[in-house]
Amino acid sequence: MSEVRVRFAPSPTGYVHIGGLRTALYNYLFARHEKGKFILRIEDTDRTRYVEGALENLIEVLQWAGLDYDEGVFLDENRNIYEKGQYGPYIQSDRVKEGIYDKHIKKLIDEDKAYYCFCTADRLNNLREQQKADGKMPKYDGLCRGISKEEAQKRVDAGEPHVVRLKLPANKDIQFNDAIKGHLSINTNDMDDQVLIKTDGFPTYHFAVVIDDHDMKITHVVRGDEWVSSTPKHVYLYEALGWEAPTYVHLPTVLGKDKKKLSKRNADVSVEDFKQKGYLRDALINYIALVGWSPETNQEILSHDELVKQFSFERVSRSGGVFDEDKLDWVNSHYIKELSDSELAAELKPYLVESGYISEDKSIEELEEIAATFKTSLNKFSEIVKQTDFIFADYQNGVFYDEVKENINSEDAKKVLTTLKVIVENEGMNEELAKSVMKRIQKETGIKGKSLFFPVRSALSGSEHGPEMVHIFMILGKEGILNRLNYVLENY
Ligand code: GLU
Repeated sequence: MSEVRVRFAPSPTGYVHIGGLRTALYNYLFARHEKGKFILRIEDTDRTRYVEGALENLIEVLQWAGLDYDEGVFLDENRNIYEKGQYGPYIQSDRVKEGIYDKHIKKLIDEDKAYYCFCTADRLNNLREQQKADGKMPKYDGLCRGISKEEAQKRVDAGEPHVVRLKLPANKDIQFNDAIKGHLSINTNDMDDQVLIKTDGFPTYHFAVVIDDHDMKITHVVRGDEWVSSTPKHVYLYEALGWEAPTYVHLPTVLGKDKKKLSKRNADVSVEDFKQKGYLRDALINYIALVGWSPETNQEILSHDELVKQFSFERVSRSGGVFDEDKLDWVNSHYIKELSDSELAAELKPYLVESGYISEDKSIEELEEIAATFKTSLNKFSEIVKQTDFIFADYQNGVFYDEVKENINSEDAKKVLTTLKVIVENEGMNEELAKSVMKRIQKETGIKGKSLFFPVRSALSGSEHGPEMVHIFMILGKEGILNRLNYVLENY
């Protein structure tokens, strides 16, 4: 077999949907598994959807995700776009400028496989309304098929607005095999004379995708489910152009937990959202791979190399894959535990700075204790803000101790807290003391169990739950501990 060549062909819309990331990932994994090539092509022929900066953002997201591609559109250090590969241009609007689509459309018209259509938007609207009212499937009625080539050319030359449509043969079965969905067939009587070139002279997606996949020698078209109904048009176009169609692989839709298509309306969907919430790249990639695919081993934690090794379309499910954020959290927490304290501290720092808890000049070293403390309780980096609330938040704000009042105002509690205060005043705080101080207080006061632990934990953190006491002592240090103890002893 010839070299596998696949492509990710997004239309830059301003953000990358998590489903798009999965499509890119499956293309990438398949290419790497097969030792083939992975290409990034930009489909921007719908000029009404053009978004400033979207292309640069898209490339940066792919870079962040580590989905390195071999050919296509890249960014240099100065965020300038450049191309690499021998089958370019890789941006469709540039291909339009080079006249690539014109050349092919001319051939189709000459061979009577496509025709100029001059129908106005008004006529098409009325036609559609009438068909709907008659209970028929809305489709073009073929009026302009009857115009002779000579007359059509005259009208085009005179500047009359027009599109170019595909001339489908009547009653012909269009068939293809999808690697996931199996054999599919549709009769041309149930299909429309697709527009290939729009009034603005730009090709439609359907036309450009066929020309480009052929020109770029794409062997497998791996894309979302939503394109499966368009595929017969593409397959017929290949036939009309005398080319061989690629293998089609339509991936199951990414669903939300409610089993509906994951969309902006019911969830966070952009890769940028997940990056911002503090998911690790490797964790997100690991989890996304499992949305609609599973390895033979049923493993759930897979490294990049294991994914490449095990990936195949045979194990992509036919039904939609459910994107479950709780499961992603679980995978991410696994990856967080693998980080060293200083790696985690570096990841957490921006969240702590942004929340105003620390200033930018705090060193990573100073944050390592926090990293060590919360490593096992974090699902994602952004959670650090809430979990460290007790350290940085204002304990004198009048509500900090609301839920633990009962734990800090009894006689026993005062005894315990005073004892701790004296010890820390005299000895400060260090690791050895942090480990032994609770025992000492127990000995000195005779108070033990909940009556010993709840007052200390509550007075220092405003909560009955949280990290181990040893960590709390170390993070707060002498000053932090004494400030809180004094405040509690005076006010409760
Ligand atoms: N431009 C299409 C999209 O953004 C790509 C469809 C395809 O891969 O053929 O979804």
